[in-house]
Amino acid sequence: MLKEDFQISQLAIPAVSFLISFLAYTSQYFFQHFEAVPFRKDEVWKINIFALCIWVCYFRASFVDPGRLPLSVKSSVRQKSDQDAAAVRQRWCRRCEAVKPPRAHHCKTCKRCIPKMDHHCPWTSNCVSHFTYPHFMRFLFYAVVGMGYLETCLWERAYVVWKSRDLPSYLGPSTGQLIHLFVLFVVNSLTVFALFILLVRSLWSLIFNTTTIESWEIERHETLVRRARVLGGYLEAPGGKRILIKKQEFPYDIGIWSNVKQGMGGSANILSWLWPFAATPDRNSGWAFEVNDFEDPGVSWPPPDPDRIPLPANPSAEDRSQLLKSYGSAREEVEAFRRRQAEDLHRPRPFSVIQKRKRFHERYNHQQQQQKAGSEDDDQSESQSPYGDQSDEGEESWRNAEGERLRDFGVDEEAEFYDEDDIPLGVLMRQRGRRQ
Ligand SMILES: [Zn+2]
Ligand SMILES: [Zn+2]
Repeated sequence: MLKEDFQISQLAIPAVSFLISFLAYTSQYFFQHFEAVPFRKDEVWKINIFALCIWVCYFRASFVDPGRLPLSVKSSVRQKSDQDAAAVRQRWCRRCEAVKPPRAHHCKTCKRCIPKMDHHCPWTSNCVSHFTYPHFMRFLFYAVVGMGYLETCLWERAYVVWKSRDLPSYLGPSTGQLIHLFVLFVVNSLTVFALFILLVRSLWSLIFNTTTIESWEIERHETLVRRARVLGGYLEAPGGKRILIKKQEFPYDIGIWSNVKQGMGGSANILSWLWPFAATPDRNSGWAFEVNDFEDPGVSWPPPDPDRIPLPANPSAEDRSQLLKSYGSAREEVEAFRRRQAEDLHRPRPFSVIQKRKRFHERYNHQQQQQKAGSEDDDQSESQSPYGDQSDEGEESWRNAEGERLRDFGVDEEAEFYDEDDIPLGVLMRQRGRRQ
């Protein structure tokens, strides 16, 4: 995946447009002047129709608004939360200072929460989201079909050149033509190969209704479940909190037909899925998604992650003892919670402080060593902290099997981790009111 760079990203759309023009139009110029194989009418038609479909879909994938949280939703949520105070628990984006709807993520480039964000595509300079996904899929589809067809046309000419390689050169094509054919052939083959793989992967995601980011989250969840299995079902979060990790089913896979229908804009008309001018999905959709019945209603996605909960700025010994305190009765515990909640309201939260934890295996190995050493010398165990330095190689930069971390998909990693999932919405809303 391409690294985000402001200047390079500005060149992406002109570069792709140049590539489309080079392949679609200079190939036709070449075919017209290549005498050994005449340029047939059906070839002219097909190449130009495919090129038109590619232009339309690319233009729409690049320039259709990937979506933004409507103001009416923001204010209605605020009213609801005022009534409901601390009872509601929802995902919260601290960059937008708004509720983060299910499947939305905060895009670093678009600088806002994007509904059903798949990834921020460097080649369209736009987010692939609930609204742009159908355009993006059609673009991939027509690009692969169109370039696949061009490949057969080029192959036919290349084969003729190869067959006549023993003839005197003045009978064959000019050197310029040979170079042109060679470059077209190489560029087209490489591009169609890369896009074919991307298309297959995207179709796979479409069928199972998982975005690129969600595939990453599924893999992350599987890793945490494996770790928790070794450690008795719980993983330790920053500040000494213990988080129960249970295997969770991905909730948005609602059957192949419904998945594809939802992904391609909500219409049951299969032809509209391929129609380049098909309407962008309804702007009122994208904020709530149907779920399957594999999980209890209270279970939310993404699953709990010890590295994605808010952490204290400086986990002092006092805080730890608070968190690990055991209470005599349920009532006492509730009262203590209320007390802490009231204190929280008066204490400015350290929004800008991010502490990165060391990688899991380092912390785990260290813990094992501590336990071993603990029997011999108790003082040694306090010497090392589980927090890393400020390099970005802490646990939050966890990578999947393909070496990708969340920011490779364009997600604002700092906002995505510690996204205040765990803080009652009412508390956040009141805090926000206080700060203004
Ligand atoms: Zn946001
Ligand atoms: Zn974006």
